[in-house]
Amino acid sequence: MKLRVGLILTLLLLAGCGQQKATKTATHTAPKVTATAHKTRVKVNHGQKRIPLRKWHKTAGAARIPILMYHDINVGNTLQMPRTQMQNQMHWLKDAGYYFLSPQEAYIALTQNKLPQKKVVWVTFDDGYRSMYTQGLPIFKQVGAYVTINEITDSLKLRNHVDMQQLLALNKATGATVNIESHTVSHLDMNKLPMQKQMTEMVYSRGRLQQWLHTEITTVAYPAGHYNQDSVIAAKKAGYKMALTTHPGLATASQGLLQLHRVRVNPGLSKQRYLELVATGI
Ligand SMILES: [Zn+2]
Repeated sequence: MKLRVGLILTLLLLAGCGQQKATKTATHTAPKVTATAHKTRVKVNHGQKRIPLRKWHKTAGAARIPILMYHDINVGNTLQMPRTQMQNQMHWLKDAGYYFLSPQEAYIALTQNKLPQKKVVWVTFDDGYRSMYTQGLPIFKQVGAYVTINEITDSLKLRNHVDMQQLLALNKATGATVNIESHTVSHLDMNKLPMQKQMTEMVYSRGRLQQWLHTEITTVAYPAGHYNQDSVIAAKKAGYKMALTTHPGLATASQGLLQLHRVRVNPGLSKQRYLELVATGI
């Protein structure tokens, strides 16, 4: 049923209906979105304490933030971070005094050139592997981390990926905050698709996630970092505020909010090299 509602919502969007109207339609069957949902969770510990916006400081120049890019927590290739290393890295960040940004906070940082403190980091995981739930969540809770998972909406049925129950559990986690964002519907190379298909991938994934999670989906990560100018236009039309690439380095608004750079983390880094990578982006 939820899927069907998602389809209706996204078809409305595709048909050019205003987003307002689509949202209105959706609320007939779905509970209220983000703001209200969070209000109901008073006194629940979601991890590292937030610094309220009024205490943020203006940056000297444009704000530059490290958006870390991870994939699986596992042993194998360079896209897989072994569990003990993942655990060490999260503790290194916490012990070095890093503030874990939510997507919404990253957006404020980039658009208003404000930061809650000097050391900030936005930790992202692509693809929604099952290890996010089995390995990652316990680690995130240890340090009260805020992390973001870029979810492929068609991957829920795959064995190595989180299923619906796990996705919902991550979304509602206590002791840490897991923000779910989009990694499209089917993880195709955007730059090889016609505009209409790119729109479908962007719109449907966002609509489904919003239906399932009752949160506003603000960000999409381009699959494999492959994108073109149509992708940027499609991301904007689909309602995303930010899009993540695999261009290396710190993220800043001048790159374009829909073409933000990220810092790839490969396994095998020493503590010193890891913290240098996070600080400099290279
Ligand atoms: Zn991916």
